[in-house]
Amino acid sequence: MWWVLERSGSGIHLGRLCPSAQNAIVGCSADRQESRAALFGALWAMCKLPVTLKIMSVNLRSAPTADVVVIGGGVIGCAIAFRLAHAHLKVVVLERGEPGGEASGAAAGMIAPQGEMVNFDAFFELCAASRDLYPSFVEEVEELSGETVGYRRDGILMVAADDQHSRELDEISRSQARQGLPLERLTAESVHERVPGLSPAVRWGLFVRGDHWVDNERLTPALAQALERLGVEFRAHTAATRLQVAGGRVISVETRSASAAANSPISAGHFILAAGCWSCELVAPLGMCLPVQPCRGQMIEFESPRELPVVVRAGHHYLVPRAPNRILVGTTAEYTGYQKEVTGE
Ligand SMILES: Cc1cc2nc3c(=O)[nH]c(=O)nc-3n(C[C@H](O)[C@H](O)[C@H](O)COP(=O)(O)OP(=O)(O)OC[C@H]3O[C@@H](n4cnc5c(N)ncnc54)[C@H](O)[C@@H]3O)c2cc1C
Repeated sequence: MWWVLERSGSGIHLGRLCPSAQNAIVGCSADRQESRAALFGALWAMCKLPVTLKIMSVNLRSAPTADVVVIGGGVIGCAIAFRLAHAHLKVVVLERGEPGGEASGAAAGMIAPQGEMVNFDAFFELCAASRDLYPSFVEEVEELSGETVGYRRDGILMVAADDQHSRELDEISRSQARQGLPLERLTAESVHERVPGLSPAVRWGLFVRGDHWVDNERLTPALAQALERLGVEFRAHTAATRLQVAGGRVISVETRSASAAANSPISAGHFILAAGCWSCELVAPLGMCLPVQPCRGQMIEFESPRELPVVVRAGHHYLVPRAPNRILVGTTAEYTGYQKEVTGE
């Protein structure tokens, strides 16, 4: 297919030159016109058709492929692609591994802004608003993918097993009460009643009914399936290797995948960088710095004779129920670079 530039009263437009009628122009949507015009803007000067066609044939490999290219198929990239696809945009997701194969699959899946924060700033508001969108988000993902993602709204229990925990919970309790956030104070007796089998050292607790958790190992793969249903092109095992810039804008991205045929640059009107802790690598050559760093978290998963009814947190550590009768215990937080190996101790 040949693309040509057309000048009309309202500016430059791109059209498709049909083989059967060399002068017929098929219009494209306003957004795409804009991005394509940017991409091919330099060609406008050469408006003699035969010359244009020749050059177009050379540049066809970098013709706009999408409205938006999302780099990174973790939960963030997939969730963004999900919403963009609902807005009827043509979206390509580039993921150098599998969907959710990095932090999104390794996490514990707590959606717990109330349980984790003491600063009630704009970031907290954002996290709480995001948590409140989860029920309908999960419903849509499950319906489209046909998969369940282990979403649970049973609340999160924070317990105090020593003086330090007690002071932290007191602080959380006071600051959340000032914000008018719902929080239930539980005696040792009612903590043990709710979650039998906890250590006798647990003295009291705070129950956050509003916080949730999800089986994150299932969420991102389900999202990727839902994306396929929505017509999103998910390119697994395809790494974005270099962003190409022209006129102060990213116009295309070079890729590398096992299939050499798929290695041509992809251009689009917009690019979303959702490459987690690798995001900096892609923008560093453009002179930009994103202060995101990798953090290794080691967890243990074991089988339990009885089901854990809620997430239990004590200080920085937690127990998270996983189906059926499995429990995740987490986590360490190690700033050891990009090491993923589990250590013995
Ligand atoms: C042990 C642990 C426990 C956690 N527990 C929780 C929790 O309970 N609750 C919570 O909210 N958060 C938790 N987190 C944090 C959470 O996992 C992350 O914030 C979240 O997964 C980030 O998602 P992401 O999509 O940005 O990143 P990632 O999941 O890392 O996704 C980025 C993706 O980009 C891909 N990529 C990178 N570079 C390129 C490239 N050049 N081209 C193509 N693809 C590329 C990667 O392969 C990766 O799949 C936890 C993290 C850890 C490590």
